[in-house]
This record gives sequence, C-alpha cells and structure tokens, in this order.
Amino acid sequence: MKITAIRLTRLSLPLDPPFNAAWDPTPRTTFPATLVTVETDEGVVGFGSGDTMDGFEAYEDLFIGTDPLQILNQVRRIETINFHGGRYWPLEAALWDIIGQVAGLPVSVLFGGARDRLPAYASCGELKPPAARAESALAAKERGFKAMKIRLARHRLADGIAAVRATREAVGDDFDIMVDLNQMWRMSGDIEAALPLAQVQRIAAELTEIGVLWLEEPLPQADVIGARRVRAETGIQIAGGEMVRSMPELAQLIEADAYDIYQPDVVLAVGMYRARQVAESANLRHRLFTPHTWSNGLGLLANLHVAAGVDASPYLEFPYDPPGWTPERRDFFMKPLDIDENGDLLVPNAPGLGTEIDADAVKRYTI
Ligand SMILES: [Mg+2]
Repeated sequence: MKITAIRLTRLSLPLDPPFNAAWDPTPRTTFPATLVTVETDEGVVGFGSGDTMDGFEAYEDLFIGTDPLQILNQVRRIETINFHGGRYWPLEAALWDIIGQVAGLPVSVLFGGARDRLPAYASCGELKPPAARAESALAAKERGFKAMKIRLARHRLADGIAAVRATREAVGDDFDIMVDLNQMWRMSGDIEAALPLAQVQRIAAELTEIGVLWLEEPLPQADVIGARRVRAETGIQIAGGEMVRSMPELAQLIEADAYDIYQPDVVLAVGMYRARQVAESANLRHRLFTPHTWSNGLGLLANLHVAAGVDASPYLEFPYDPPGWTPERRDFFMKPLDIDENGDLLVPNAPGLGTEIDADAVKRYTI
C-alpha cells in the first residue's frame, strides 16, 4: 500500500462568546483546527487532527509513495521532522486510522484492546469564581462525571484554591478533583518566572488537605528533584508530561521516577506508538499513564483509542466546561463525542478510529 496524497484542511470555528483559557491571557474568539486526510492507492482514507501541522507542506514529499502500514518507519520519519520542524503527530493518527481499516479492527484493539470504554473526567478550561466552579462541578456530577480537573492560574492562586475548596464542599467526598498548575510548558511569549518550589509545596499541602487526587505540572520539566520532594513531603500524586517533545525526555522522567502519572498527548507530544511505550514503561514501574487530550474531538478520539488499548487509568481527560467549552465546540467538524450515563466514554467499534466527519461543517469552517 502506498500513500498517494496528504491533504491539510485548515478550519476555524468562530467563538461567540469567546473562550477564556486559564493558561492563555488572550481570550479566544476563534478555534482553529487542521484536518489531515491521507489517501492511499488502494482507496483507504485516514483522518487525523490535533496539532496545527503548520509548515508540514515542506516535508510532505517524505511520505508520498511510502507504505502507511510500516508504522514504525513512519513514526521515526515524523520524529526526524519533530527535531527540525513541528509536531506532526496528527499524521500518525491518520495512518493508524488506515491501518485499523485495513485490519478491520478499532485502533484500540491494535494497541492492546484492554478496554472498550474509559471513565472520563470533566476537564475545565476557564477560571471561574469559587461558587460558579462549585456549581459547574455539581452539574457535571449530575451529568454522570465522576471527576473534574480545575486549572489554577499563577497570578490568581488564592482564588483557585478557594474554587477547589468550594468544589469539594459542594460535591462531597465521592467525586475526584484534580488540579492543574500548567507549569511545564508555556504559551508563546509567556516569559514570567515559574512558581518557586516553596510556594508549590504550600499549595500541594493545602490541596492534599482538600483531598485532591493529583496535582498536575506544578513545576517546570527540569525540576525533577522538586517534583519528587513535593510528592515525598505532602503525599500528593503528581501528574505531568502532556507536551514533552521527545521519547528520550519522557524515558528519562520515568527513569528518574519524576511523577506518579505520565500524560503525553498522542497528537501533541510523542505520538500514538510512543505513548504506548510510555504507558508500558510507567506501568512496569508501578506508575500510571493517562494522556492529556486538549485539542479537538479527533485528537480526543486518537487519545481514547490508545488509552483504552493500553488500559490507561484512572480517568481519561474530557475537555468540558460549558458554556465556554462544550462537546459541540470541541468537536465542531465531526459527530461530537460524549459520555454515557455512567460517565464513561465509549470507544467506537468501527474499524480504524471510527471518526464521523461532518462534511458540511468542514465546508462551512474551511478558511
Ligand atoms: Mg495539563
């Protein structure tokens, strides 16, 4: 089988009202997405999405005429470009979509087939006052979610902790709360210093007392010693690694026992094949893997297949923070994914990724 064409369709969804991401000082009035379509000489077509694929056109020739089924070679090829250019992991997702269709199996089965569904946690994106955040958590709990992740902003820590506390008081003890400090990577242009270790230790101690399940990315990637100290001194679990750029870096973090939970996003960090290696390495050391997944519905779907295949735990990230972030906004160019009444996200059982692209939406939002 040969790849005959790779098409990038650039989409933009207008956001009115805008979405105010906790990690981004600029309100978002549009939501961009790039749909990758891979065509083959045998008529099988694969879809992927996630990172923007900016600049990929310069490298497209490296893939045309190659065999999509030789997936390790394709992963290595993408890694060589990852060093020089961008993170073109949505292409790998489209290739797995093809491989699954050729095999006649959902991609999750090719990754281990451990589960056909995963419990999802409502992953919030906006900074909300304590009462509003608590109310949103109650609504999420009523909808079936068993857990929620709350983002804290560096410049509004007291408000953030108050929101976590108010949420715990509202939802009770039978609902997990995670907290993300987003200190491991930066939005372009954000040159503010990271939080000092001593302050992170105080935050971690307070969150431990509120019964937080994990503290995510409290420190920069280089501060492995700090991460280990926070864990040892407070007993809180640390999660991290959503945007780590290479497999050797992740391998070193695992080897150093930096975190309890490793979270490389399969369409933003190291790809799908490598994410399975992360999961296995982490599991061998009695540590967990569950991917970050904050791109769009197709990115979420690629993460779901890998996560279900490798038995990720304890939850899968499900971006959800209405009214700013809904499944309809997140999945605007496909049939939206949603949890069932038990709070589980089901893996589609169609061969490949099982994406149901909305051709009208693609036409409407192409730029
Ligand atoms: Mg995060």
